[in-house]
Amino acid sequence: MSDVRTAASMTSEAAGLTSGYAVGLDVGGTKVFGALLSADGALAGTVRLPTVRGREGVVTSVVRAVEELALEAGVLPGELSGVGLGVPGLVDPATGSVVHAVNLGIDGEPFALAEILAARLGVPVVADNDLNVAALGAAHALGPRGRDLAFLALGTGLAAGIVIDGRLRRGASGAAGEIGHIPIDPLGPLCPCGQRGCVETFASGTALGERWPSRRGRPAPAELFEAAEAGDPRAVQIKAEFAAAVAAAVRILVLTVDVQHVVLGGGVSALGDTLLDAVRVALDEQSRPSPFLTSLRLADRVTLAPTDVPVAAMGAAIAGRRKVS
Ligand SMILES: [Zn+2]
Repeated sequence: MSDVRTAASMTSEAAGLTSGYAVGLDVGGTKVFGALLSADGALAGTVRLPTVRGREGVVTSVVRAVEELALEAGVLPGELSGVGLGVPGLVDPATGSVVHAVNLGIDGEPFALAEILAARLGVPVVADNDLNVAALGAAHALGPRGRDLAFLALGTGLAAGIVIDGRLRRGASGAAGEIGHIPIDPLGPLCPCGQRGCVETFASGTALGERWPSRRGRPAPAELFEAAEAGDPRAVQIKAEFAAAVAAAVRILVLTVDVQHVVLGGGVSALGDTLLDAVRVALDEQSRPSPFLTSLRLADRVTLAPTDVPVAAMGAAIAGRRKVS
């Protein structure tokens, strides 16, 4: 954990950066989080603005964020070495068109977001899925050790962004890392994807909220883990089952692509060390009967996404800069 944090200002050669400032934006349903990266890959500034939903609203929000960060760098937006966006939804990374992003109020016909922004700002713009840029940002934060990692997002659903040999692995149809839809229990709950017992039906924030709804207005995961800590037997059981399902996701990632690190992110990861501990315990329990699994040291590979640097926005900046390198 500590090295994840301290490596935030790693050198440029490991990330393959070009010179000049780059801006990256994590465009969420409620806020736009922006990061300014200097030529050496260090975080030089951040901005946080509310997201205006809808096509024109998103464009306006992004333009404002880029202008603020360019001002902070003392350059015009057109003098940036690139702008990258992470968008929660289906994005064509080749064109930067947003096909589907319900949380941003973008649906229906594909929306040429990157192209419109590039014309408005006078700088190359790339757009990608938010999970992919988060994986790039996490790799950047880990430094040279982060060339092989998976960013496992535990949020509404469960999915991973995968970086192998320092490059994103998207897959032939962009579905690499969609491990949330690997069934782990043939008798489990029906998943919206049409299968039964998918990992996501056990290990997402949504699944957890259904089994332990928020009672005091705080996030369900926090309330569940507190109740478990206080000794509520049902909460203890649900927490253990949740941790076991997250551990199954970790196992799948390591056994498939043998990533060195599995970085836990997404809303549920706000639980912090209490989540990390529970997942490590589950991994150790699952590994115990198997010398093979034990030899893979699964628990040692799991870490938390850094909370002191905006990984998704930083990853977006890296993606944006690479486009023009
Ligand atoms: Zn499914």
